[in-house]
Amino acid sequence: GEVFLNGQYVPYAEARIPVEDRGFLFGDGVYEVVKIYRGRPFRLREHLARLQRSAREILLELPDVDWEGVVDRLVRGGGLADRDATVYIEVSRGSGPRAHHFPPAGTPPTVLALAREFPGVPPEYRERGAAAITHPDLRWARCDIKSVNLLPNVLAKEKAVRAGAYEAILVRDGVAIEGSSSNFFAVLDGAVVTHPEGPHILSGITRAVVLGLARDLGYRVVEAPIRVSDLGRASELFVTSTTAEVMPIVSVDGNPVGAGRPGPVAASLLEAFMRLV
Ligand code: PMP
Repeated sequence: GEVFLNGQYVPYAEARIPVEDRGFLFGDGVYEVVKIYRGRPFRLREHLARLQRSAREILLELPDVDWEGVVDRLVRGGGLADRDATVYIEVSRGSGPRAHHFPPAGTPPTVLALAREFPGVPPEYRERGAAAITHPDLRWARCDIKSVNLLPNVLAKEKAVRAGAYEAILVRDGVAIEGSSSNFFAVLDGAVVTHPEGPHILSGITRAVVLGLARDLGYRVVEAPIRVSDLGRASELFVTSTTAEVMPIVSVDGNPVGAGRPGPVAASLLEAFMRLV
């Protein structure tokens, strides 16, 4: 198939990014991942608004792109019109001789988008729930920016995978902040609890959708820090993301959560989410 690169559609194998691209040299860029359900993007407007915000926060001016048209062409051109897929979008601060400070004004950003078929998370995770580990949150103080600097996330996720787990819950000052690539929720005293928006979390598109669904379903919703010391008394834990949707977490560091099975709150939220998409 083709990818979208700097305003043009290029065969995947022929797409080239300069060796001094700042995304490669410095992780100097921002990104989005959009889920495609049966050929149609879910919450594209919200993802684009977040891309715009991330770019603004790193003082990167986004070029005008008809993203709806790009997503549509990549999905259709990739033979994904009736499939589930993801579209990855990245914008870096362009390329130039390596220097930390910004390149000269007028340097065009590098703009990439590509679609890939994504059949979804393994059904056994859905049915039996997934394991998680806790891991120190080693990231910077602007986790609200969706930047391509993902080394702490990558290392935490790898640790989870090596432990046979699905996700690493990042912990800062005794608080379970979010997953390495997901937002983190607990059911505590019957309420659906998740960390408030702010510089320490990425404001997930799925998080916002799920909070809305939780309110619609009549759950009490609390946006407050979740202490690791409270995880043991949570009746349920789950994570949300564009690709994982609502994923029940049934053990943390080997300790079962509640009954050790996916619980009714996560199940009802996932069901409502699937109706929506
Ligand atoms: N937090 C982090 C650190 C993430 O990487 C992601 C997924 N990109 C999320 C939360 C979930 O965000 P979303 O629901 O928008 O995919």
